[in-house]
Amino acid sequence: MTFELNDEMAQAATELQLTTSLNSILREVRTDKPSLLFCEDCGADIPEARRKAVRGVRLCVGCQEVQEYHQRAGTGGTNER
Ligand SMILES: [Zn+2]
Repeated sequence: MTFELNDEMAQAATELQLTTSLNSILREVRTDKPSLLFCEDCGADIPEARRKAVRGVRLCVGCQEVQEYHQRAGTGGTNER
């Protein structure tokens, strides 16, 4: 009977994955970088509401969308932190 062992391993793997993604979320949240007043990419004003909502924001909504699109598409590999 190897079923129980496999089940335990699967559980451990799931917990590891959860911990890993939680850590990356915490790293995002804990960033101490101040929000920028102007978009790092195009120089547009970043509204105060957005600066408060997104801590350490660096991009305007438009550029953020473009960046997220590239990240989803797997072509934005230059932003590793
Ligand atoms: Zn921008």
